[in-house]
Amino acid sequence: MMSRRRLDSRSGPPAGLLADVQTPVSPEPLEAVYEVTGELGRGKFAVVKRCVEKTTGKVFAAKFLRKRRRGRDCRAEVLHEMAVLEAARNSPRVVNLHAAHETDHDVVLILEYAAGGEIFDLCVSEELLPEAQITRLIRQTLEGVHHLHQTNLVHLDLKPQNILLTSVSPPGDIKIVDFGLARRLGAAGELREIVGTPEYVAPEVLNYEPITTAADLWSVGVIAYMLVTGESPFAGDDRQETYLNVSQVNVDYSRESFSRVSELSVDFIRKLLQKAPEDRPNAAECLGHPWLWNQHPEPAAATVPVRPARERSCGAKWAAPPEDPEDKENFLESPHSYAKKVRLEEEAPATGDGDF
Ligand code: ADP
Ligand code: MG
Repeated sequence: MMSRRRLDSRSGPPAGLLADVQTPVSPEPLEAVYEVTGELGRGKFAVVKRCVEKTTGKVFAAKFLRKRRRGRDCRAEVLHEMAVLEAARNSPRVVNLHAAHETDHDVVLILEYAAGGEIFDLCVSEELLPEAQITRLIRQTLEGVHHLHQTNLVHLDLKPQNILLTSVSPPGDIKIVDFGLARRLGAAGELREIVGTPEYVAPEVLNYEPITTAADLWSVGVIAYMLVTGESPFAGDDRQETYLNVSQVNVDYSRESFSRVSELSVDFIRKLLQKAPEDRPNAAECLGHPWLWNQHPEPAAATVPVRPARERSCGAKWAAPPEDPEDKENFLESPHSYAKKVRLEEEAPATGDGDF
């Protein structure tokens, strides 16, 4: 079972909180405007329910955010989540905020409904997605992340549970949700001490080192790995083991599952799962990676491994795949490049003064 736990900062309001909200917060009871029909998801401080706007019949997702948490008034944090949604609203890859209501206990965000559910379900499903679909979803995720970063926002909780789909079958477009841990960069000095789910967060975040937009790109690498293999790359048997796997960048690229996709997928993921944040490409650079644009053949059946087409040349930013594509089977076995190794001990620590 994958953990949904979070560790927030310990005392005082965290840095980088947004305070300005434009959307009016209506005191009108939700039931006057919507018919609430069922639960869509739930976290530590929030419940999300499906609801139908009575006047229009339109379906929305209502996120009920508790204002009191651990005996403390957290209304500011809740409004921050709302303000981030507003700041990011120009991207079609970010879930749209339709309206907001407030009760004694909660602020309720009325969100665009993503009917296809979490891409998490695609990662744990028996039948993994064809490569062409995976690359489409990763492209869209990167478009959203690029937009956030352009707006000086970092999400900090990107994971397959927070990337939703407009429809499941065929897979629709992605919508990024859950901006509770998102922060604005640059305004109030260094950003540290905001930690999402250990399985998905970058080493510098786990180590309470300065946070940059590069942290989100790490998470995109984890998501890509999970869509390709159906496995969480860093999940250990316990939290301690997960921490260790992340901080040592202990990733298994030799999995059988990589044989069903082109070797460029490994190149893409490797570039994101680098310990030093400044070594990771930014979202725009990622969007130029050839894996995301190559024509991937649709497999006849999801279980039949596909022999990828010969890859195109990769352009300046990305090194060409080192192996001859004809050597596919050997390539995945190749011990010098793909053996699972604990190998980043000597690497210089992240300094946080990357180019973001
Ligand atoms: P939390 O902060 O508790 O993780 P999220 O915003 O991630 O809250 O919502 C929890 C879950 O509810 C999501 O993982 C998803 O399954 C579901 N959910 C959230 N927003 C929507 C939406 N707009 N449409 C459909 N389902 C949603
Ligand atoms: Mg969530």
